[in-house]
Amino acid sequence: AKQAGGQNYHYFTDELTRDAVSRFQMENQLRQALLHKEFYLEYQPRISLVDGSVRGVEALIRWQKPDGTRVSPAEFIPQLEEMGLITSVGEWVLHTACLQARSWQQAGLPEFKVSVNLSAKQFVQKDLCQIVDKCLAHAGLDSSFLELEVTESLMIEDLQTSVRMLQNLKNMGISLAIDDFGAGYSSLGYLKHLPVDTLKIDKGFVDDLATDVADAAIVQAVISMAHRMGLEVTAEGVEEPDQLDLLVSLGCEEVQGFYLARPMLPEILEDWLLKPKA
Ligand code: C2E
Ligand code: CA
Ligand code: CA
Ligand code: CA
Repeated sequence: AKQAGGQNYHYFTDELTRDAVSRFQMENQLRQALLHKEFYLEYQPRISLVDGSVRGVEALIRWQKPDGTRVSPAEFIPQLEEMGLITSVGEWVLHTACLQARSWQQAGLPEFKVSVNLSAKQFVQKDLCQIVDKCLAHAGLDSSFLELEVTESLMIEDLQTSVRMLQNLKNMGISLAIDDFGAGYSSLGYLKHLPVDTLKIDKGFVDDLATDVADAAIVQAVISMAHRMGLEVTAEGVEEPDQLDLLVSLGCEEVQGFYLARPMLPEILEDWLLKPKA
């Protein structure tokens, strides 16, 4: 038994070493990325099911390494969080998205909001409101054109502080959305304390909306609850027409997903916005 344990141990440390090495490599690459400006943003439209208009665009960070490979934000955002770099990258995202939104307005495009994802680490920054205010002022963007997306798991840790932060942002005139709603360890009870405008239903419930009765029931319940609480609902990850039809019939007001539009570079989005829709 001892022997076997020893072997397992070696196997385990090899794994750990490999993990540590690749993490170390990624950390170095991320530091380089920051220095050499390898990050950029794409924007995915959020479309109104009421009138088909573009209500907003969500800014999504992208990282292309010098060798051309791309890394998903789902992979490198958590790493940036651990490295303590998410606050500076997050501020860059906010800054860039506000400037972009303002430049679209100045180009005379129809007005829509820009949504920016906030990481938990940014949300607990004491000076978040000042940072947001600085980005808006620098871009000359009115706060009513900014929406911030936060996840629910982040709220539960310290409800009072979270509520205060959300209220301060709201008082500035910014819209607030709960991202990935239903995916985390949610407790419905706290939702009534959160001064948010929108619930974004997690893609996980939308995926099988047309085939799974339970998912359909959950989506229906979330929409009706949200409406009774005076909140709007955005469904994420809509990939098929059947999902869209169901969401319309359930009274969902806004959708986002590959079926309607993918995240796009600013130039591509501009062309897409001007192109007549079927
Ligand atoms: P998220 O905030 O839930 O963003 C939506 C994700 O779903 C995006 O992935 C988007 O490209 C993808 N998506 C949209 N429609 C569809 C669809 O129809 N089908 C499928 N399969 N996917 C769809 P992305 O861009 O890879 O981002 C992943 C996550 O990384 C985001 O999830 C968000 O949590 C995080 N993230 C992205 N950009 C930022 C950022 O600037 N700051 C922070 N803190 N997190 C970010
Ligand atoms: Ca989001
Ligand atoms: Ca989401
Ligand atoms: Ca997510």
